[in-house]
Amino acid sequence: METTQKALFVDASTGFYRIRRYKVGDYFGPVDLGLHISGRTMSVNFGVGLFAGSILPGSNRLIFSGFSPCWRNFFVSSMGGAGLVFNKLGINLTSIVGKAPVPSILYMNRFHGEEIEIEVAPVDLHAVWRGDWRGSDGSEGARRGAYSLLDYALDRFGPRYESECRAFAVGPAAEVTDFGAILSAPVKDGRATRVDTWAGRGGLGSKMLQEHGIAAVVYGGTVIEDDFRDRRVADEWFEAKYKQKLAVKDFEATTKYRFDPKFQTGGTLGVNYASVGGRLIAFNYRSTTWTEEARKELHERLILGHYLRQFNEESIATKSQATCGEPCSAVCKKLRGEFKKDYEPYQALGPLCGVFDQRAAERLNQAADSGGFDAISLGGVLAWFMDCLDAGELKPEDLGVSLMPRWRAEGFDPVADSAHNAELGLELIDSILERRGLIDLAEGPRKWGRRIKRDRGVRVLDRFVYTANGRRGWMVPNQYWTPGVLAPMAIMGKYYMHYGTEFLPPRELGRASADRLRKELRMDNAGLCRFHRSWGEEMMPEAIGSVYGLKEEYLQSIGVAASRINSRNAAVYWESAKNLEFVETFLLRRRDVDKDEGPELARWIAAFDADPAEAALEFWFEMRKGIDESLRDFY
Ligand code: SF4
Repeated sequence: METTQKALFVDASTGFYRIRRYKVGDYFGPVDLGLHISGRTMSVNFGVGLFAGSILPGSNRLIFSGFSPCWRNFFVSSMGGAGLVFNKLGINLTSIVGKAPVPSILYMNRFHGEEIEIEVAPVDLHAVWRGDWRGSDGSEGARRGAYSLLDYALDRFGPRYESECRAFAVGPAAEVTDFGAILSAPVKDGRATRVDTWAGRGGLGSKMLQEHGIAAVVYGGTVIEDDFRDRRVADEWFEAKYKQKLAVKDFEATTKYRFDPKFQTGGTLGVNYASVGGRLIAFNYRSTTWTEEARKELHERLILGHYLRQFNEESIATKSQATCGEPCSAVCKKLRGEFKKDYEPYQALGPLCGVFDQRAAERLNQAADSGGFDAISLGGVLAWFMDCLDAGELKPEDLGVSLMPRWRAEGFDPVADSAHNAELGLELIDSILERRGLIDLAEGPRKWGRRIKRDRGVRVLDRFVYTANGRRGWMVPNQYWTPGVLAPMAIMGKYYMHYGTEFLPPRELGRASADRLRKELRMDNAGLCRFHRSWGEEMMPEAIGSVYGLKEEYLQSIGVAASRINSRNAAVYWESAKNLEFVETFLLRRRDVDKDEGPELARWIAAFDADPAEAALEFWFEMRKGIDESLRDFY
């Protein structure tokens, strides 16, 4: 096994590069190394864990890191399966520094142990995003936006590879907003498949394009490393821990993502919607203020009776599923034709925006993806705009659109009304990309919302559910109705916090979030997909112990990385009235629906009842105390 990690530094302004080695033990993977490098350069980094190319399922994630333009702090975002081909470059991480003078594609290739071939090639970005190009076989670019650029990059550079290659690309959102994502897909016969994978959160696509001038990266090679491939040894680890072989344990651990007989569905979309019941979030979180009966009625009528039913019939019953590019028995990518369906984007750009029909959600998600947006953040923004329209705080012309949302649950037609709201969503996406009306999200919605308050006197941010970091940082929370998604953690928007739906006193919730951060880092720093977490968070330190003899050092380094991340925690107390409502209604539901009779819950409900502003402030700071006291040990 290699005892050093190789980081390739590419200067996008010149195409020059150098390789630097880091001892395994000083740094263990793409997160702690990315954190180290980000402390010294304003780079965007992407790399794999020590077990890339190994037989451990889910070990080929490509982990991106860097200072996020939207969150305004260090961020980590990862992409399924994209590390498998990256591993063939014979390096662990690439760090892009400097800025190409014009938008460009970074090409990286390595033949049989020779030097890595690097090229920074200019691209006519807008023409390619429009699909205005011809492929090497004379065909016209059939897709648009980020997809078109992905296709173009593969068409132009793919023939140069002796074996597999893969690419990732950004869309127009990376140019005009701070929350542009990065798209990739497994490649078959030289073309990107329809199984999208995304480094979605944190705006690292905006960073790559705006700060480095890199719009796409194509990579691949022929290096065969001494990866861990001894199944007998892996089985011994798993037998010792779980009395099961690796494949059996993994198959059991990934049931939810494949097919869960308990719910007769599979994947995050299927299982979450089958089980969410009265915790459903819809119409820009307005559902949190309804009665439980009203929420359940909505869930039964529009989700079980339509949205989920369509999904089950079209994607689950037909077994339309794929992997992210990994050999993985979870086959978590549930498909209908060209559409890949995960819970969070199909929730944020679904019920949160008043869309309960798969056709309408497909149109909206496809527009978001072609635009290259972080789909969850976009869903939060669109739902907020729609809510402002419905409340009369903004007019259609303010947002450059022609429609008003259909925002009433009573009599909601799942097909016609969803199509209407999706149409409005499409208009809003165009408005964001073309900066129509008052819209300009170049520096994020918080700054924009402050400007609207200054110019119009309306506090539109009070309708936007988000976490805030520093002066400008923002993040739409993960789509679960629980206070953990609004916790003051140093990185928000991914699962670096506790999002269980039980009530935890806020100090405990802060501690649980800190604990989750450490456990998630064990996997992210090893490049492991979190869908394998039921063994991954425990076994990755064991595996590093077994192969490198560094288990305790790995755990120690995770603790240090977590505390270093938290040392930059600039979380800002909730700015939006809607955040307070989100937390207070959660507490009430716990008491009234889940029949939680704990005195601590009762105390917080009484506090919110007496003085919501004071109670929320105390709740937030209690969480922060729990976080800081848990992550201070390594200072
Ligand atoms: S669970 Fe899904 S995303 Fe994770 S490795 Fe398997 S196929 Fe890829």
